[in-house]
Amino acid sequence: FPNEFQQALPILQQIEAHGYEAYFVGGSVRDTLLGKAIADVDIATSAFPAEIKEIFPKTIDTGIKHGTVTVMQHGIGYEVTTFRTESGYQDFRRPDHVTFVRSLKQDLQRRDFTINALAVRADGLVIDEFDGLADLAAQTIRAVGNADERFHEDALRMMRAVRFASQLGFDITTDTYVSLLHNAELLQKIAVERIHTEFEKMMLSANWLIGWKLFVATGLIKNTPFFKDYLTGNYPKFVATQQPLMDEAAIWTLLGEGFSLTLAQQQQLLHSWKSANEVIADSQHTLAFSRLLQTNPQPGASQLYQVDATIIERLATIWPILQLDADFTQLAIHYQNLPIKNRHELAIDGQTLIQKLGLKPGPEIGQWLNQVEHAVVMGEVVNHNEALIEWIKQQTD
Ligand code: ATP
Ligand code: MG
Repeated sequence: FPNEFQQALPILQQIEAHGYEAYFVGGSVRDTLLGKAIADVDIATSAFPAEIKEIFPKTIDTGIKHGTVTVMQHGIGYEVTTFRTESGYQDFRRPDHVTFVRSLKQDLQRRDFTINALAVRADGLVIDEFDGLADLAAQTIRAVGNADERFHEDALRMMRAVRFASQLGFDITTDTYVSLLHNAELLQKIAVERIHTEFEKMMLSANWLIGWKLFVATGLIKNTPFFKDYLTGNYPKFVATQQPLMDEAAIWTLLGEGFSLTLAQQQQLLHSWKSANEVIADSQHTLAFSRLLQTNPQPGASQLYQVDATIIERLATIWPILQLDADFTQLAIHYQNLPIKNRHELAIDGQTLIQKLGLKPGPEIGQWLNQVEHAVVMGEVVNHNEALIEWIKQQTD
């Protein structure tokens, strides 16, 4: 058992001591069997939420309606979820209606893929009702049971299929893949926030290009916001590189360049995918700088002053994918050598201008600060308080 399981083991044992079943389930089991680091430990149990709360002194009602109670142990929270079945899938979306059951098999049956439907008991026994172990060994993603049915129940599972293929570098089995092709349109029923989460996990994985190609080839892309109205036969030709994408803004900059979007179109794309404002701002800045670099590969000091080190670093990982080339090391050095990186680093402020030069408060102060800022960035004057005052005096003479 990895450390994370070892630490959580007493929880399984205590539940068992009270006469119920308890197992590690989901992604943590899959990742452990693959020898990968695990994200979070999920526990499934035959005990009902009220019964779990009787066993453990410290619990939090995380999602009691869905059967999830967080059990606190040594400052770590563990999600303990009652075995359940889901029913009443309406509109191809995840149901609100769940029924608690006492059978592990029924709980595993409602899970998306065989590799995610494994359970491990405290004594190490692996419960493998749907041949998940064989699929792990064969490195394949296969829906539990009938793929068409599973994608009808919850169309998000189609995004999860390509996400896991990407994260794990696995193939999708033929029946599950054919079902993706047939049901891709159902993705339109799914809330964009849920699609977004899976898409970003996919694009930030090491094998993102595998996932991207599947996302396009299955037609899932044509059933997502923006792209469903973006009529083009031409999908970008991305080239594999060693580096993964740096962050969310890197994804959207890559798409902006890949699809030759204007800044306004990229903004539309980001809004329709409900991206966070910070991500939108970073993506727009990075795309703008990418465009500038294509017309001027050696931007001057005042142009570099408009960006920051992260934007340069981000573009350095994106350009090779687009088969664009620039000397980003040199750009980063130039940027580092700028006398100041932002206005707060100026060795003078409005207050000083008023006191030392007798200027009147008002718009004039701002204009002088702009001029001084520009002169410092361009290396026309050193960023020292007295030198700056002298420089202003000279300008007014
Ligand atoms: P990650 O490492 O990204 O957390 P994960 O497999 O743990 O991957 P989660 O979204 O955390 O994914 O879900 C935990 C488990 O719950 C899954 O392994 C799967 O068994 C089940 N599951 C999650 N979402 C669905 C879904 N939409 N349909 C069916 N089962 C699901
Ligand atoms: Mg998880």
